[in-house]
Amino acid sequence: MNIIITGANRGLGFELTLAAMQRGHVVMAGSRSPQEEGKLLELVSRYPGQIKPVQLDVCEEESIAQLAQALRAENQKVDAIINNAGILLGRGTALEELPIEDVVRSFEVNLFGPMMVIKHLLPLMGEGDSQSILNISSEAGSITNAYGGDFPYAISKTAINMFSKQLKRYVKDRGIRVYAIHPGWIKTDMGGERAPGDPAESANGIMDILEKKKEIDQASFFINYKGEPMPI
Ligand code: NDP
Repeated sequence: MNIIITGANRGLGFELTLAAMQRGHVVMAGSRSPQEEGKLLELVSRYPGQIKPVQLDVCEEESIAQLAQALRAENQKVDAIINNAGILLGRGTALEELPIEDVVRSFEVNLFGPMMVIKHLLPLMGEGDSQSILNISSEAGSITNAYGGDFPYAISKTAINMFSKQLKRYVKDRGIRVYAIHPGWIKTDMGGERAPGDPAESANGIMDILEKKKEIDQASFFINYKGEPMPI
């Protein structure tokens, strides 16, 4: 499978890249400064021919368009896109103190970024249920379980859930699978040291979903890394 992963240089994105390598897939590993990402470059020598670090800032439409153009020129098909890059700004900030720029930036990275990635890369995808788009979301985006905090993050994740549902309908006739996925509360820079979850376990669960190894309820579009439905 040819997989594009955004934010592949650290955290969950790096673990997804590693898990994909270990399973024999080919990954276009997106990061903002690929030449400076030692961990990713190390994978290039460990898994020759299986990983291509690519420059991809999800907020720069030009950077996404250039990647699409390069892939088109190489006649390279894309089987799966994992929109993983994300930010959590101002955790715990009271609404009264909230800089509105945090809301804007959260939407830019967590929603507009994935939308632009799909806008430019969808034309490179094939048809059928071996093709997948996985948008990494969060339980924070659940309307049912809204907890009254982290407004920029939570609302932008609700929005990516809606985008995922809309997209699922949009590509229905092409047979492409689309999910918004909660990866669990995992130990990364974002999740913090107290997080109980192992990002490698989450990444392998997500790869199982990609490889259709999990039974997923037909109607579900918002699921966790185990393939179980999440409350919308
Ligand atoms: P990290 O903060 O550890 O990593 C975030 C990644 O996103 C980095 O690779 C970062 O790159 C990248 N990124 C940020 N902005 C951009 C941008 N404009 N363009 C390209 N890449 C960008 O987060 P996690 O690995 O924990 O999170 C991954 C996903 O999982 C996110 O969508 C997050 O919301 C979601 N999630 C995480 C949870 C957790 O407990 N950790 C819980 C629920 C959901 P750079 O190094 O350049 O900044």
